[in-house]
Amino acid sequence: MIVAKFGGTSVANAIAIEQVKNILSKKEKKTFVVVSAFAGVTDLLLRITNLIKNKDKNYHQEIESLFKRHYEVVEQLRLNPNVVNFLDQSKHEFQMIANALVVLGEITPRSVDLILSYGEILSSQIIYAYLKSQGFDINFVDPRAIIKTDANFTCAEVDVVATETQIRNYLAGNSAFQFHITGGFVGSTLDGFTTTLGRGGSDYSASIIASVISAEELEIWTDVDGIMTCDPNFVPNAKLLEQVSYKEASEMAIFGAKVLHPKTIYPAIKKKIPVFVKNTFNPEGKCTFITSYNSKEKKAKAIAFRKNVTVINIISSQMLGTYGFLSKVFKVFEKFETEVDLVSTSEVSISLTIENLAFLSKIVKALKEFSDVEVIQKCVIVSVIGEGIKNSTKVAKRIFSAIDGINVLMVSMGASDINFSIVVRENDFEKVVKLLHKEFFEQ
Ligand code: ADP
Ligand code: ASP
Ligand code: MG
Repeated sequence: MIVAKFGGTSVANAIAIEQVKNILSKKEKKTFVVVSAFAGVTDLLLRITNLIKNKDKNYHQEIESLFKRHYEVVEQLRLNPNVVNFLDQSKHEFQMIANALVVLGEITPRSVDLILSYGEILSSQIIYAYLKSQGFDINFVDPRAIIKTDANFTCAEVDVVATETQIRNYLAGNSAFQFHITGGFVGSTLDGFTTTLGRGGSDYSASIIASVISAEELEIWTDVDGIMTCDPNFVPNAKLLEQVSYKEASEMAIFGAKVLHPKTIYPAIKKKIPVFVKNTFNPEGKCTFITSYNSKEKKAKAIAFRKNVTVINIISSQMLGTYGFLSKVFKVFEKFETEVDLVSTSEVSISLTIENLAFLSKIVKALKEFSDVEVIQKCVIVSVIGEGIKNSTKVAKRIFSAIDGINVLMVSMGASDINFSIVVRENDFEKVVKLLHKEFFEQ
């Protein structure tokens, strides 16, 4: 069996969904299909949660436009009245939930997830109905019935054992179908509350399913030909990478390349499942193949960037010649449950980056009890990624000569040997990314 995941732009409208059907109609093997919400719908649902939170009556209008978009697709795909009934019912239910939340005057992460889940629930039901109407031997399974998670709403972690049991049971009872379809991104807790897996999480759903069923391959269908040397929307000269290693792909995802969700790769690595990233709108074109190969070439493969990062410089001369400075610093971040991304240290100073600013002022206050603290907001981590680059002395030299004159706030070689990251101010980052891309990939 293979697993094929189609992202938001691949199912954005009736024309795109027809294209998905064309791709699937060529499949001879049994296929588990995972779909995202229509492009832009998760953003719209998030806007609705904010309007509800602010008791802003415009939420009614946004709910209208949410459903209008789905009714239009249903009409364009000429689906039967059952699907219209399903939409009527879902809309009624959605309005009741929204009204109740406004009355309650509070919106918890649990209710945010209930609202967000509508994107994938609606898209998967519509695409299921369409494929069935086109003669596909297909069955629908609600993601909440198979993807079991913890109760960390809005960014839930999959409970692999429970999920495995659910998927096995589901397939045991439905083995005859050639196709199965579910919505990505959504799951539920063991006691049945709806959860989501974090933005971009449909990739993760697909990879979990692929891992549980030991799929022959996992296909991630998106709106670009595959993984490229940089985000092609940002660097038009970005080139397709026909082969990348699992390590390179996951490092790129972690350091900002949103073509794959950072958690996607791990379940696939564990089961050694080949992953392909392909373009829904150029299905016969070249694509990216992600494998476990470990390139002997010490070469930069890609540039990734992560925006909205804050640098904190912590300097404590009192700590000279004593021990325990690092541990004191990290206890502060642990206390305020703030994840630290990059770190570089000397005996009496530490520079680090964080993204979550919820407790920034408390963190700074606590650090100031034993050190001088400088905070630089609006920074960007720019990473050069490729297997073995840490051992390539030339890489550092090329990076610094390419961006000569730009103020680099932090340097990190990463604990792995495949990432060389620098941190620069937001004002400089476009220039830095373009210069580095030119240096490594446009010569
Ligand atoms: P989907 O909805 O299919 O999941 P996403 O928008 O999440 O698609 O991911 C695809 C997008 O990722 C591309 O349109 C591209 O702008 C962006 N992207 C960022 N970095 C890269 C990269 N290195 N290679 C390819 N695409 C990238
Ligand atoms: N629809 C969700 C999002 O936009 C999940 C996904 O598309 O992967 O984040
Ligand atoms: Mg995505």
